Amino acid sequence: MEPKKKIAILGSTGSIGTQALEIAREQKDRIEIEVLTANSNADLLIQQAIEFNPNHVVIADESKYTYVKDALSKNDIKVFAGSKSIADVMEITSADTVLTAMVGYSGLLPTIKAIENKKRIALANKETLVVAGELITQLCAQNRVDLIPVDSEHSAIFQCLVGEDLNAIEKILLTASGGPFRGKKREELANVTKAQALKHPNWSMGAKITIDSATLMNKGLEVIEAKWLFGVKGFQIEAIVHPQSIIHSMVQFTDGSIKAQLGLPDMKLPIHYAFFFPERIATDFKRMDFSKINTFTFELPDTDTFRNLALAYQAMNKGGNMACILNAANEIAVDAFLQDKIGFLEIAELNEKCMQTVPFIQNPTLNDYIETDKVTRETATSFVGKSILP
Ligand code: NDP
Ligand code: MG
Repeated sequence: MEPKKKIAILGSTGSIGTQALEIAREQKDRIEIEVLTANSNADLLIQQAIEFNPNHVVIADESKYTYVKDALSKNDIKVFAGSKSIADVMEITSADTVLTAMVGYSGLLPTIKAIENKKRIALANKETLVVAGELITQLCAQNRVDLIPVDSEHSAIFQCLVGEDLNAIEKILLTASGGPFRGKKREELANVTKAQALKHPNWSMGAKITIDSATLMNKGLEVIEAKWLFGVKGFQIEAIVHPQSIIHSMVQFTDGSIKAQLGLPDMKLPIHYAFFFPERIATDFKRMDFSKINTFTFELPDTDTFRNLALAYQAMNKGGNMACILNAANEIAVDAFLQDKIGFLEIAELNEKCMQTVPFIQNPTLNDYIETDKVTRETATSFVGKSILP
């Protein structure tokens, strides 16, 4: 019998976090939950803690500390509160694997702490690599820590690369569903509502990534994520729209051969793979029926309409803190769109404006990233509500 995997789940109350806990429930003999964290959903966090009995629980929202602590007073669970505690817990937990399933920039510092404490990273929180990919990959190398992707496209690429020499990669074909507005032109998108944008055709996910999928920012973030994960150059990464979301991505090698990884669109598959890699553990997840899925189609993304994808390539090629600026601007923009403060097309406008305004730093330190994130948020917030469309 293999020893149990000891897993910390950062963002356990979210879409990825709850699916990870379904896996933990199904693989009770193989998985032990060490840490659970949430931002403010105290009730679900308490319920999860009672079921999975972790050693540590963290609620970022400090006003909920007493509520969570009291609810778990009869359990042998240490409760902490505050964003900083999420990172601090990485120093004391005996977890060997950390699933980073928080949203956005909030994942950066806990991920750094986890790497410094030699935890294997199952990375869902792509924004961490977007913000500080160079720093994170260097830290992983220094600490001999594996970064196993959970994002379905990157899990696909990772699986295609098992047993391969990374120098033999010619290009990565990153597939995209195209989101709910595929085929639409700018004029048709000016007045789309958040309810329309939140309706993803193939995946059920948290609000931020669902809006990112509708604007193609998600694919842009994933292009940058792929660059850092697989050590390729920007021009070697090609995004291609595949509306069926069955081919999760492909790798073309220098001999012209292409490998693809396929599966039903279900995030439990890549989460499961990341937890157990290099083992493949049997599951009873739903299987694909090729007699029902008989058409695969492909098209190029429309970067004139979905400008965020083009901005992400620009940020990646520029390097330095530019992707950090883009990420922070986009977090504010998505938030503002979800609060009906800006329109759909203004998300990319606001992102571009921040990329032009916030000071560029060629070789940022961790403090520079922290400062860039802060300044960009302030800058982006000041643009919200003003007419910034040309
Ligand atoms: P959700 O919004 O569903 O969940 C986010 C989780 O993180 C929740 O537990 C939330 O707590 C917590 N959280 C949010 N903000 C903070 C914060 N500032 N501090 C501490 N905790 C916080 O997101 P998803 O699960 O959809 O996405 C998580 C990550 O995984 C993202 O980076 C996303 O890009 C990536 N990803 C997601 C996929 C998906 O299918 N959902 C697919 C591929 C990647 P609370 O519940 O209390 O708010
Ligand atoms: Mg993805």
